[in-house]
Amino acid sequence: MTGQIGESKINEVRERTDIIELVSQYVTLKRSGANHTGLCPFHSEKSPSFSVHAGRQFYHCFGCGVGGDVFSFLMKIEGLAFPDAVRRLAERAGIELEERQLSPQEERRRQQRERLYRVNELAADYFHQTLMEQPVGEVGRQYLKQRGYGRKAAGEYRLGYALEEWEALGRTLQQQGANVEDARTLGLIRPREQGGGDYDLFRGRLMFPIYDLSGRVVAFGGRVLGDGKPKYINSPESPIYHKGRVLFGLYQARQAMRQSGEVILVEGYFDQLALYRAGFPQVVATCGTALTGEHARLLKRYVQRVLLLFDQDAAGRQATFKAMVALQEEGVPAQVIELPSGEDPDSFVQSQGAEAFKLRLQQARPVMDLFMEDVLAGADGGIEQKVQAAKVVIERVAGLTNSMEQDLYLKDLARRSGIDLELLKQTLAETLQQPVQQPDDYRGTPPEPFFPQPDFPGPPVAPLKPGWSRPEEMVLCLLLHNEDARQQISAAGLQDYFFTPAAFKVAELLLRETAAPETFKDLIVAKLDPDLSGLVIPLMHKDPEQFAGEVEALLRGCKASLQRELKKKQREETLNKIRQAEQAGHLGPEDLVGQFKNLK
Ligand SMILES: [Zn+2]
Repeated sequence: MTGQIGESKINEVRERTDIIELVSQYVTLKRSGANHTGLCPFHSEKSPSFSVHAGRQFYHCFGCGVGGDVFSFLMKIEGLAFPDAVRRLAERAGIELEERQLSPQEERRRQQRERLYRVNELAADYFHQTLMEQPVGEVGRQYLKQRGYGRKAAGEYRLGYALEEWEALGRTLQQQGANVEDARTLGLIRPREQGGGDYDLFRGRLMFPIYDLSGRVVAFGGRVLGDGKPKYINSPESPIYHKGRVLFGLYQARQAMRQSGEVILVEGYFDQLALYRAGFPQVVATCGTALTGEHARLLKRYVQRVLLLFDQDAAGRQATFKAMVALQEEGVPAQVIELPSGEDPDSFVQSQGAEAFKLRLQQARPVMDLFMEDVLAGADGGIEQKVQAAKVVIERVAGLTNSMEQDLYLKDLARRSGIDLELLKQTLAETLQQPVQQPDDYRGTPPEPFFPQPDFPGPPVAPLKPGWSRPEEMVLCLLLHNEDARQQISAAGLQDYFFTPAAFKVAELLLRETAAPETFKDLIVAKLDPDLSGLVIPLMHKDPEQFAGEVEALLRGCKASLQRELKKKQREETLNKIRQAEQAGHLGPEDLVGQFKNLK
């Protein structure tokens, strides 16, 4: 990555890429008339509803509704950001991208990142060599063997061994010309407190390289061979590693995840290895961190449901419920796989075999079920406790997007707790109302959550920009940066998404010019007032990755925010009318007050 790609180059890459050839790398296509059809790679199906139009350089699935051009296809299927998809297709097409010149500061950062990747590569090679070839690596090989893994697994995952020495890696890196400061930044070595020099962070450990989605090593996890503590050490965060955004095994698992539409989420490296090898390749590990919202969004790019398989103890349950909340906020259904207590996926598969695990997988149950059971079990005392527990459950039930599901859980809760169903329904209704009842919600503080996904840039309390509301701005960004969203908005009609004249006008203009995005800027400058074009142009320069994701979910989120925004606006207007009426000396007309009440 060296800069920003010009829009005319993007068009050139699009035109020079044969969409049939690209899609054929992932999907078996058959010609039918002007189209090619095949089984959709984005949802599971038995008869083909995925079609590619060679002439229009466009794909569409009648089953799940996805569609777009070569870039959106590659982004979706490989989980890439827009610029990376462009770069990859440019390389294929033999087009050289002259990218925008970076500022000196950006250029320094880019160079640093490149150096950091290289140092991690050197370290991964060194650890791997030690494990596979060196006599001193025997202890690592023995350990792996004892856990049931041979050279094949070690090779596939590029596992390594860090010697039980203080300066082995540091010395090697220096011999290979790596910069000491870079190795420190990555946390591979640390300065000694006394006497100068550095010492290795990973010593006497089996090493797991952690990859990003491009297959670059961004960090390491190291497991102690014996019973020493801590059992695991991970690389600290660095400019190339943010633990909240990386999952161990995702690079290897993503194709299987997409095909099956599901992912098994486990805690440890060996859990991931064990299931992958046992024939369940759709598995990733959190590596000792709680599942974050970013993790949830990342998973959502590939799967429709997540199967949680954490340790079968109290800590594992807490981790499970945390993950449930993170996933629920992203609208991803989650289920729990249960194992006999004391077993982990690794031990279970080794002792019981893959078939037994498959059965457990089929028996997975909704995480909400387990949550309810767990909360109610902790409240077997008096009525007070039970009511309190029911409230805790209802708070989570309120987070479900499907009202039928909510209803079923309430019935279940009534049955299990003995509390009257009507009462539970009422509590749920109150819980759902809560954000709207916040006293200052019509005074400029947007109700939470403003955008379910993706994270909308800028603080939630920022004043609205002149011209349009923030949800409308989000939809404008989708029009500019997300081809699928563009098509859906175009099909649904603008009136569903815009209510201020300025936003409507801009959106209309953007939709008319589907063919040539490189002319957007000129067009916007030519056709819009300067203050309006001044608002649009910054939106064009936003990172497209912020607006990537499942289009249905994105648009649903936008619509919900828009509705809240519209309601807020109506309330403000009504309130203003009431105030004016008050100031004019007579109390507001009954109907105005009534209207205001209705708007609540
Ligand atoms: Zn589909």
